[in-house]
Amino acid sequence: MNTRIVIGVTGGIAAYKIPHLVRLLRKEGAQTKVVLTSHAHKLVGIEALRTVSGNPVYCDEASIHDMDHIRLTEWGEILLIAPATANTIAKIAHGIADNLLTTLALSFSPGKTFIAPAMNTAMWENRATQDNIALLLSRGHRVIPVENGELACGTEGAGRMAGIEAIVDAIIHHAAVDLPLSGKRILISSGPTEEPIDPVRVITNRSSGRMGAAIAGEALRMGADVTVISGPAAVPPPNGVRVIAVRTAKELESVMQKEFGSTDICIMAAAVSDYRPALASSTKMHRDEHESITIKLIPNPDILAGLGLSKQHQFLVGFALENRCDEVRVREKMARKKCDLMVLNRIDNALGTDTTTITMLDAQGGGISCGPTEKRVAAHQLLLRIIELTGMRHE
Ligand code: C5P
Repeated sequence: MNTRIVIGVTGGIAAYKIPHLVRLLRKEGAQTKVVLTSHAHKLVGIEALRTVSGNPVYCDEASIHDMDHIRLTEWGEILLIAPATANTIAKIAHGIADNLLTTLALSFSPGKTFIAPAMNTAMWENRATQDNIALLLSRGHRVIPVENGELACGTEGAGRMAGIEAIVDAIIHHAAVDLPLSGKRILISSGPTEEPIDPVRVITNRSSGRMGAAIAGEALRMGADVTVISGPAAVPPPNGVRVIAVRTAKELESVMQKEFGSTDICIMAAAVSDYRPALASSTKMHRDEHESITIKLIPNPDILAGLGLSKQHQFLVGFALENRCDEVRVREKMARKKCDLMVLNRIDNALGTDTTTITMLDAQGGGISCGPTEKRVAAHQLLLRIIELTGMRHE
């Protein structure tokens, strides 16, 4: 198991077991880095953890660099929080990021986050904790079941942290599942953009976000770490995906550019508004104030072409929604935007429906069609084609 694991330790008594857990994970071949909360810091020695993990230990007290959480997110393939106290579980469930570990949890994909709760029975059975656990599970977090038994406070019952071996087994099992996109980061733009005319009116596109959501769901099932940058779409991305909401094309451009560097595959499925009003009114325009209105539109940046220019290792996929099946036009577009693959679909059979017909044109001259079929099936075929073209398999 050559997996990079970040182990987050919170202030439960079971923290004393963590050096042993780290040793077992390393024996299995994992690389490990440990992050401590300030309460955990009082329960377990930094020196011991540094020695067994083979890496510096990160905590709030030590002079940590501001960007440690981002570096650790980029480095880690799995985040394991053990022991996870009721307090940290509650914070993660509600998106609170008030220390290095909870900040890290917020920037880590739920599907790659393992939580091993540990607390006394009353706290474990409390409705608040149970609701928080249910919320985390619904978002795709992995919770390693607690055990029944003697607890540190002298009582017996549910709430004891899972055994060290059970935690190691859960991680090994996850890492061993040989999914084609395991360890790959996929960035998907989805849905329409909105360009304000005034505080109430917008210029937008008829895009439901269904295709973007379908690609995100299939990529997740294939083991990828998925981020969706979504305009105001009718269909939300699936649970387990990291979502960043945007409205305008300019906002979409800035988030895409920020995320692009750490991405392996970028799929631009958003319907971007090609133009925006040169001036948006700051107050609502009223019908009785104007006989007629002329809105001057200025071009939005071509986001995909911009990404094409800064492309390094990334595989870049664009969508082309056309009036008719015009491959020549789409190939010209693919070359201009420096894409590796362009998905051609037609206005009459893709907009707002659950089904679509797509033609996947690649930069080497190949072309494969699929459909009419459910968008989920088309999304699966698209990802298989990307895997084939990149040779991205079982790394
Ligand atoms: O040129 P056209 O709009 O047909 O290109 C479609 C592709 O380019 C889509 O992948 C779309 O998301 C992207 N696009 C973009 N920025 C724009 C317009 C389109 O990234 N301003």
